Amino acid sequence: MPSILIIEDDQSIRQGLAIFLAEEGHSVESLSSGMEGVQRTAEGGLDIVVLDLGLPDIDGGQALKMIRSISAVPVIVATARDEEGEIVRILRDGADDYIVKPFSGAQLQARIEAIIRRVVGGTIRAPMVVSELVVDVEQRVATLGGVPLDLTRKEFDLLAYLAERVGVVVSKRELLAEVWRQPYGGADKTVDVHLSVLRRKLGESAAESRYLRTVHGVGVKLVAPDS
Ligand code: CA
Repeated sequence: MPSILIIEDDQSIRQGLAIFLAEEGHSVESLSSGMEGVQRTAEGGLDIVVLDLGLPDIDGGQALKMIRSISAVPVIVATARDEEGEIVRILRDGADDYIVKPFSGAQLQARIEAIIRRVVGGTIRAPMVVSELVVDVEQRVATLGGVPLDLTRKEFDLLAYLAERVGVVVSKRELLAEVWRQPYGGADKTVDVHLSVLRRKLGESAAESRYLRTVHGVGVKLVAPDS
């Protein structure tokens, strides 16, 4: 049963949506302030957050950024007509979808279903093959020359993120934001340390790189060794 959190200060909208979504078979929680919503999101266990932009305590856009810094949970932002100009910003700040008020429970339900199909249910993703390296995100297994690599959870996430973008230079800031969910992480050494361990496990070093190429001052990319 998908677990949905509604963050909405208007009591009649909040209750109406909660009742509708519960009848559709969701497990529904609802809160009326942004900070309570962020705190609840931090506790985890949610499949989707429906976030109102106009909240009494903090701006919904601000709440979205806070949620994104602590969680990858899909967020649907509910905006009023006069907030439509904010939609681009909201999507860039990490919202998965938006819905313009007034909207029906049925429309929200359809958007929730679409996200669940895409994100939660997902299609089975085929293993990614880069020369001798195979990264299977479904099984969470990576092999090099047929031999399984002994990776920690974050090392695997890092390798998978790069493998999904073969040949593309990814900045350390992006890795911190996307793999570690720390968009404001700044200058810490987390990424460097993990890259260095990953290199060792792939049987290479920064001086003699094969799969992991550092592009100085820009970031890192995963490539086939002979490219
Ligand atoms: Ca509101």
